[in-house]
Amino acid sequence: MSNEDAPIRVCARCLLALNHRTTAVGVSWEHPVDAEVGHEVVPIPPPPGWTGKCDFCSTARPTHVVPANDFLVPGVAGHSSGGNWAACGTCGELVEQAKWDELGARVAEEFERRNGWPMSRFARRHLTKLYTRLRRNITGPVRPIREVKG
Ligand SMILES: [Zn+2]
Ligand SMILES: [Zn+2]
Repeated sequence: MSNEDAPIRVCARCLLALNHRTTAVGVSWEHPVDAEVGHEVVPIPPPPGWTGKCDFCSTARPTHVVPANDFLVPGVAGHSSGGNWAACGTCGELVEQAKWDELGARVAEEFERRNGWPMSRFARRHLTKLYTRLRRNITGPVRPIREVKG
């Protein structure tokens, strides 16, 4: 069901968790579409002690899990979202309360703080579509990360 045993790759340069993209020649790794980091991806296995970042705002450390099915990322051929999403406390709460507009605004704000430039309109539109798709694939309530094991 969940893809607990799917390999996780992070980018050695920005330490974002990467999406896998399935093509005819196999699997490649890419930054989240909205990351716009401006460098080539350098996929590595997560270094020891890497706890990931919030799958929504990419800033805070995840404390919650949004249980979700795998789904195809809209608008980007071959991209899929694998299983559960990690969320920081704030993003997790917004998901739990179905405040998707606020969540999108928060993610854009965090993006700007992180990069020093505003998220592009393309990325904002993508996010809206992505979250709409995610929303349809959520399988249960948001849970604290500790209870997810086993
Ligand atoms: Zn990177
Ligand atoms: Zn977050």
